[in-house]
Parts: sequence; C-alpha cells; structure tokens
Amino acid sequence: MSKQPAPAPAPAPAPAEAAAPVEEKKPEKKEKPKAPKRRIQVHKLYKADDGSLTRLRKECPRCGRGYFMAQHGDRHTCGHCGFTTYASKA
Ligand SMILES: [Zn+2]
Repeated sequence: MSKQPAPAPAPAPAPAEAAAPVEEKKPEKKEKPKAPKRRIQVHKLYKADDGSLTRLRKECPRCGRGYFMAQHGDRHTCGHCGFTTYASKA
C-alpha cells in the first residue's frame, strides 16, 4: 500500500436550503413488494379434443366437481378445503 499525500480538501457542499426545517418523519411501514398473484390457469386443467373433454387434474372428493387438486411432488392438495392425498409410491 502506498501512502498518497492527502489531496486538497474537497469543497464543502453548498448548503442548499439550510433554513428549511427538518421534517420529522414517522417510521413508515414499508410494504413488501408483493409478487403478482398467480391466477389459476384454468385452460391447463382441461384437455379438449374433438368434442371430448378430459380433466387433467384430480377432483377433490370432498368438494366435488369443479374443484381440482393441485399436483405437488408426492401429493394432491385441494386449495379449497385443504384435503390432501398422498401418492404412495414405494
Ligand atoms: Zn376440497
């Protein structure tokens, strides 16, 4: 490390609006940037070909028709009632 001679003192920043009173700011609650809510893509739940409709997701046995269960790694979950079935693959 080389010692450099101290440079000329930087000019002090011009006092801008020095007379302005400092407003006391309350600590505001910072809102977390929310990720945009993902809407369910309904068209992905069905497969339609030639007038026949196939449902690609399991339907919730508790909620009945129209309530599809989310597919996770090893389970299906109903977002409506919370019903979960585990795929037992051993
Ligand atoms: Zn359900």
